Formats: sequence, C-alpha cells, structure tokens
Amino acid sequence: MRSLPVSLVRQYCFCPRVPYFMERRNLRPPTPLWVKQGKKFHVDLQSINSSRTFKYLKWDNALIQSEVSLSSSDYGLHGIADCVLVKGSRVAILEFKISSRYLEHRGYRLQCAAYAMLAKQQYKAESVECFVGRDVRSMKKFSISNELYQDVLDVRGLLDQVISHDLLPETSASLRQCDQCEFNGFCGDRE
Ligand code: SF4
Repeated sequence: MRSLPVSLVRQYCFCPRVPYFMERRNLRPPTPLWVKQGKKFHVDLQSINSSRTFKYLKWDNALIQSEVSLSSSDYGLHGIADCVLVKGSRVAILEFKISSRYLEHRGYRLQCAAYAMLAKQQYKAESVECFVGRDVRSMKKFSISNELYQDVLDVRGLLDQVISHDLLPETSASLRQCDQCEFNGFCGDRE
C-alpha cells in the first residue's frame, strides 16, 4: 500500500479537495502566514520541553524521544510525532499545539489517533496514550477509542479514492474555511 503523510488525514477532514490538489494535481501554493507561525511555535516548544520532567503527566522516568518518524506499511501512513515517551511496554504521544482546543476538530483528533496507531505498532506497545497542549504542564490527555482508530482507517481508504481519480471531489467546506485555505482560487465553485 502506498504510504501517505498523516497530515493528509487531517487535511481530508478539513476538505477532501486539499489532498486531491496536493497528491493528484501536485499543487503546492505558498504556505499562509498563520501556518508558518504555527510551525515556528511548534519548533520552539520542542527545545523548551525536551529537558523537562514529565511527572505532571505521570510519565516521569520515561525515555523521551522528539521528532520521531513513525510509519506503517499496513496502514499506509507515515509522519513525524512531536514527542514519544516510552516506558516499558507503554508509549505516549505528545502533540504540542497552541491549545488543546485543537481537539475540537475531527481532523486533529484523527491525526493524534493515527500517530497513536503507528506508535503502538512501531514500538510493539501494549498501550498508548496521547497528550495535546501548549506545554507539558497544561497538556490534556486525549483518550483514543476503537471508533476513532476505525475512523482513521476509513479516511485513509477515502484518501485513496480521492487521489486516484481526476474528478474534483465534492466538498462541504464553508466559505469561511475557503477563506483560510491555501487552495482558495483553485475552486471556481467556491467563490
Ligand atoms: S478553497 Fe474551499 S473547497 Fe477549495 S480546497 Fe479549499 S476549503 Fe476546499
């Protein structure tokens, strides 16, 4: 199975046309400023938190790995998790975001679930936990249900459909979403 970036799962949830433009039409419009700022924030947090204890998450004395490449040929997904904690047969995924409110969006929930799936398989872990937030002290634990795992697999299947056809996918994106989309201007029916 062809491997796709985990980020495409999130982007599919935002609008199925985004992975279509990226993978089918190979379009790479300039990254909006707010996305660049998000990336910078992301990197800065890595350096700040890499040396901290994780006792607030009850993961003290865990092996800490940052910017971890995860992949699975079974799932056809790959990506880089911000941070992985390893303690015996348990692993934890840490995603640094400006706010844990990112989890209100289905796309981000699925992205976390996808990383958790990949990490569980890659580390042969018995269990996996996921934390999201601005820094270690304010991180929220995110429980991943079997339904969410299935949702990831379903979206992965839909991604194959979207990028294997020339037809522009249907979208339910709002005009507000289109306004903040880097592909605004490529969708003539959304102006
Ligand atoms: S402009 Fe709107 S419809 Fe087009 S890809 Fe972006 S979100 Fe989807």
